[in-house]
Amino acid sequence: MEKGSQKTQAYPWICRGFLRTLDPQEIGADRDKNRSIQVKTKGFHLLNIIAVIILAAIVFDVIINIVSDVLNLRMLQAHVPEPFQGVYDADKYRKSQDYLRVNTRFGWVSAMVNLMAVLLFWFQGGFPAMDNWVRSFGNGPVLTGLMYMGSLMILYALLSQPFSIYATFVIEERFGFNKTTWKTYSLDLLKGLVLAILLGTPLLAGILAFFEYAGSHAWIYCWTVVTLYMLVVQYIAPTWIMPLFNKFKPIEDGQLKSAILSYARSIQFPMKNVYVMDGSKRSSKSNAFFTGFGKNKRIVLFDTLINQHTVPELVAVLAHEMGHYKKKHILQGMLLGILQTGIMFYLLSFVISYQGLFDAFYMNHGSVYAGLIFFGMLFAPLDFFVGILMQIRSRSNEYQADRFSVETTRNPGAMIDALKKLSVQNLSNLLPHPFYVFLNYSHPPVLKRIEAIDAFKSTE
Ligand SMILES: [Zn+2]
Repeated sequence: MEKGSQKTQAYPWICRGFLRTLDPQEIGADRDKNRSIQVKTKGFHLLNIIAVIILAAIVFDVIINIVSDVLNLRMLQAHVPEPFQGVYDADKYRKSQDYLRVNTRFGWVSAMVNLMAVLLFWFQGGFPAMDNWVRSFGNGPVLTGLMYMGSLMILYALLSQPFSIYATFVIEERFGFNKTTWKTYSLDLLKGLVLAILLGTPLLAGILAFFEYAGSHAWIYCWTVVTLYMLVVQYIAPTWIMPLFNKFKPIEDGQLKSAILSYARSIQFPMKNVYVMDGSKRSSKSNAFFTGFGKNKRIVLFDTLINQHTVPELVAVLAHEMGHYKKKHILQGMLLGILQTGIMFYLLSFVISYQGLFDAFYMNHGSVYAGLIFFGMLFAPLDFFVGILMQIRSRSNEYQADRFSVETTRNPGAMIDALKKLSVQNLSNLLPHPFYVFLNYSHPPVLKRIEAIDAFKSTE
């Protein structure tokens, strides 16, 4: 078999020595002089382009987000926008602006701490130190890789915990949203950890093993396995995974249920039931969503939503969710996800064997597991742009789903009222800056959605 030759071709890092490993002190010195990161080899200055790209991307990401935040805060105005007069009282409107300010500042602190932590870990040689540690156990490459990636994930989780606790128990609490008890919070953490281990470990082990042993076709195997895996997880999510965190009850018989079922019949939406989720267990914010596919698809309403809206409003919201299904947005999203996964693994198969990637992080040894992590950092800029494209697609889908709802319920007033109430209850920012929307919003700003519905209504 040609496997042997493929393997050596795919892993040139086995023959090391193209670039020597960077010395952290050199980096520090170079940075102090504000020059790019360089490797000095026999008098030549070899630029480690990988390190420069990753560093630039990390810093760029922080800066562009701060710029969009500042623009966003500058948009805040004292008076309530016209369509919301009478819905938002002046006090509550001010509160929504405070909520934005507090969250923005909190985002800055957390981004700065993250940035500092990543740079410190990187330039203090955290990646090779951890590598030496996991290698000292003398396990095979797959188990060593799982330990390496697991340790990094634990470090990251430890770093982000204080922020998550502060967001839940201080910020959300202060604005009256938080309903999470410490018990729920700790149980969520524990369940999330167990789930990550149970679901994540086999998948990660598979990816590591393919790239370790399967030669140049590893990316195709990984793509296939990850795709099947994602489909299975999405399929079982509504019945097996989500009930671990929330209670789902079929909606009670009554006016709401019959209104929903008769609407669903009118658009030939195959549906057996609508579920109510105890969202109030964690937050007073409300929402509705669509999950699963095939026979396992479900429409879920938060209990908080049902308590705060009229029957026609709830039907309009559900019609929007069914619109996503009818307009094939769910299928589209799944196919795009699969395509993205394939492209990522294909690119990974080129980069994972590139020595410069390991030199950029001072690694003494090349490895599949470290390659996976560094690849993730190297392709963050690509992710950034793909993310923006995905958001554009998502916002356009939201307009389509709104339109579907209005067309089929013939009740634009209910949809508009639902949107208004939802924004007020969730203290949504009514006037986000277009650049901020461009970068961050998966849904169009509520005023734009209302405008679009009004415009559509008048052409009817
Ligand atoms: Zn939607």
